[in-house]
Amino acid sequence: MNWGLIGASTIAAGHMISAIRSCAGNQIISVLSANAERGAEYAKTHDIRSSTTDLEAMLADPNLDAVYISTTNEKHKFQALAAIAAGKHVLCEKPLAMSCADALEMVNAAEEAGVVLATNHHLRNAGSHLKIKELIDAGRIGNVQAVRVFHAVYLPESLQGWRINSAAAGGGVIPDIVVHDADTVGFHLGEYPLEVTAIEASGSLGQGVEDSVMSVWKMPSGILVQTHEGFTLRHAETGLEFHGTKGSIIAKNVMTQQPIGQVELRTADGVEEIKFSDHNLYARSIDHFMGAVAGQGQPAATGRDGVRSLAVAAAVKQAATTGTRVAVNYGGL
Ligand code: NDP
Repeated sequence: MNWGLIGASTIAAGHMISAIRSCAGNQIISVLSANAERGAEYAKTHDIRSSTTDLEAMLADPNLDAVYISTTNEKHKFQALAAIAAGKHVLCEKPLAMSCADALEMVNAAEEAGVVLATNHHLRNAGSHLKIKELIDAGRIGNVQAVRVFHAVYLPESLQGWRINSAAAGGGVIPDIVVHDADTVGFHLGEYPLEVTAIEASGSLGQGVEDSVMSVWKMPSGILVQTHEGFTLRHAETGLEFHGTKGSIIAKNVMTQQPIGQVELRTADGVEEIKFSDHNLYARSIDHFMGAVAGQGQPAATGRDGVRSLAVAAAVKQAATTGTRVAVNYGGL
């Protein structure tokens, strides 16, 4: 498959270029940047055949099969719609768009055009999370009663740009991390929140956008979910806990891009350390995307999954800014 990168980004350089190339037969033939010089340099550094600043010209290439979009968030929608209109398959970064309605428009456009639109929610590709889901589905902790998500980290200095100072580019910890947590919890439980409450703060990093948030979600089944996302904590460990009628799953250091962490199952029989696969999360995302393009199954996270996670994040933002309890609006999904 011939790929184009829309966005000369850090995530592509750090994870996705190698993930795309890890699948046999894949080539990256072009990269789009708003800056010609930067794009050319990026192409040279990453051994990509060509660079351009012209989206239409990039998409007009009949050899191009798919694009990976990893620009700042406000650009995802128009770039995805252009790619879909050109008949290209799209793997888009989260959040899919700036609003749930925009993300739904992207999903509908892809369905009408008959191309694959996937969301790059990496966590559900992790060996740790696949194993946690297996444990929950097998009833090892009984009926889930409560979930806790610990996803407050320190944003690396190299990423302290638009994420902490530009609401217009989709900055803030809610669009950045709450979407991942909504997707991950939804993946594990097979349901998404009915309503949420939240309080946000702007501490040492946020300039006009929130850099930390805590929220509580109520699921249709009655399960309560408590989450904490942040950019300012240097020494906090990430984690995820599921507490059920027969046991608990305590997962540490698993809300991460690396295939690491520990998963523990606690039941009346004692504490069991659970082993899991250490495959590359992003390579699995690409592998499933390519399967979907070939007509074999679904992407790991579909466009619809991206709409759902964004709907939860939007509700958390609304709850945090209005101080009210907000019903999540999935736009009819
Ligand atoms: P970056 O800030 O690295 O890249 C975003 C845009 O900023 C690029 O498209 C590029 O513009 C421009 N840019 C990047 N580096 C420079 C630079 N040194 N000088 C000038 N401009 C620069 O963002 P990320 O890679 O962190 O995030 C991109 C997208 O990916 C976001 O949507 C984010 O939410 C998502 N993401 C997803 C992750 C996941 O695990 N699923 C993890 C991290 C990010 P241009 O292309 O025009 O050159």
